[in-house]
Amino acid sequence: MIYRHGGEMNKFMADHMLGRTCKWMRIMGYDTGYPQCHSDNDILKKCKEENLILLTRDYEFYKRYSNSIFLDSPDFKEQLKQVVTMFPPDRELFFSRCPECNTILQTVKTETMGPGYDLVKSRYDTVKFCPGCGKYYWEGSHYSRILSQLNSIIKG
Ligand SMILES: [Zn+2]
Repeated sequence: MIYRHGGEMNKFMADHMLGRTCKWMRIMGYDTGYPQCHSDNDILKKCKEENLILLTRDYEFYKRYSNSIFLDSPDFKEQLKQVVTMFPPDRELFFSRCPECNTILQTVKTETMGPGYDLVKSRYDTVKFCPGCGKYYWEGSHYSRILSQLNSIIKG
């Protein structure tokens, strides 16, 4: 794994302004927290305690924590390019993490899904399930679009 150091995967924290970037980081498999209603001080405390790399567009905030990355661009794709340049992604981890809540997804059989998923059940034997928020994910029409976006981000 290219972005592991000392056997541990780097963990990130996105600040409040980076919700979209945070979701895309998770889709690429980066462990990325998102603050709920914390103050800046609470965010920094959590980052220090858990050794998180802080991603921010706030220069003052950036200067308060040595393990932080100032994202130059307001555009989320440019922000992601900046991150993947510093921490190359692992394709094996794509779509392994819930974009909504950062939990590692599990593969489950579609027959275990409740009512209302007949179409999914007819097309797939397994889907990804998030034990954190209960969402299901499968390779729908948006999957290839997301993948091509990821490829364009990685290639720069
Ligand atoms: Zn989830």
